[in-house]
Amino acid sequence: MSHDFDDLLEANRRFAESFALSGFDGVAHAGVALVTCMDSRIDPLGMLGLEPGDAKIFRNPGGRVTQAALEALVLGAHLLNVSRILVVPHTRCAMTSNTEHELREKISRSSGQDASWQTFHVIEDQIAALHEDVQKVRAHPLIPDTVKVGGFLYDVDTGLIEQKV
Ligand SMILES: [Zn+2]
Repeated sequence: MSHDFDDLLEANRRFAESFALSGFDGVAHAGVALVTCMDSRIDPLGMLGLEPGDAKIFRNPGGRVTQAALEALVLGAHLLNVSRILVVPHTRCAMTSNTEHELREKISRSSGQDASWQTFHVIEDQIAALHEDVQKVRAHPLIPDTVKVGGFLYDVDTGLIEQKV
């Protein structure tokens, strides 16, 4: 076994010393599910005043409602106490500021390999994509109408979230 993760495992042991979520049932206690970007500038719980245990969080590049996100939201709505769904992309997202071609070139340069076959699902019009994503959730036959769905934009420079859809 390598020592590549030693610092993180050591931090985990400290975390476990004061672990308070033992026996927790795993539902979303605040009834919230969140789809957002993988961007490290986003603190998905903190930005909504939530704590561990409160929300289901699904992240990917761009915060898109993908097939896998919909699977998570259906499970959340039926089995995990989710009654409100927030789709939250953010300002200055790499998935909106690069073209597919630019990302492929960057990855090709970084890897020294041809990356022209790799798709990245870049977003040309972020707000239009947000409308589509929210509609996908609202129109999903297995997401009950009682579940509230909103589309929001997170500003990585101010920390503020604004509802767009
Ligand atoms: Zn992003």
